[in-house]
Amino acid sequence: MLAGICAFCGNQTHFTARTAFVIKVVPDSYPQYQYEIEVSATCDACQRFNSALGLTRRANRSLNEGSILEGAMAVKEGELMTISSWSPSPMLPVDVSFVPEAVAAYLIEAHNALSVGAHRAVLLLVRSLIEATARQSHISDGSLVQKINAMFEAGHLRKGTKDMAHALRILGNDMAHGEIEVAPNQEDAEDALTIARFVLDDVYVADARRADMMARRSSE
Ligand SMILES: [Zn+2]
Repeated sequence: MLAGICAFCGNQTHFTARTAFVIKVVPDSYPQYQYEIEVSATCDACQRFNSALGLTRRANRSLNEGSILEGAMAVKEGELMTISSWSPSPMLPVDVSFVPEAVAAYLIEAHNALSVGAHRAVLLLVRSLIEATARQSHISDGSLVQKINAMFEAGHLRKGTKDMAHALRILGNDMAHGEIEVAPNQEDAEDALTIARFVLDDVYVADARRADMMARRSSE
């Protein structure tokens, strides 16, 4: 099935193939021909065009390299293809409920950076997010590690979150000074976003969500 996350509306949805470009035949796939293909398809939720790159099924049919498939042909090849990537890259959805706008902007950009594989950018943005969170809590003196400690001592962060944030600081510091020797990978970037989530939940979300729930239940 031609399905994925739409880059524009963010829905996990089905796409309708409109046209397909036959890039080239996969070598040695005779007689069950398989092709590299790019399918241009509209999102069933918002109708915007996204493109899927991948491989067709293996089948007894012959397509011309460089040709364009239309209508039913495009739909058939698109529905049965194996997708390797989408263009544009889907932006990951991000929940910023209860997070101040100034801080939420860092979280959204960090998610967008991860979506396009900009792992250094993710780490630097998460570092900035923690700095901004400290600033919002009126903690502005000292290094990042001192700010994290101050947020912990003021009761804004739990100990587990403080320890995680310290682990991230090492990468962030190295990169901010241009001293990074090993490029951060996807896992480093995902860990950084996990830490960001914990920091925001500790500082802003947990209490606000509880207050919100209490307020709703007392007015029932
Ligand atoms: Zn869409």
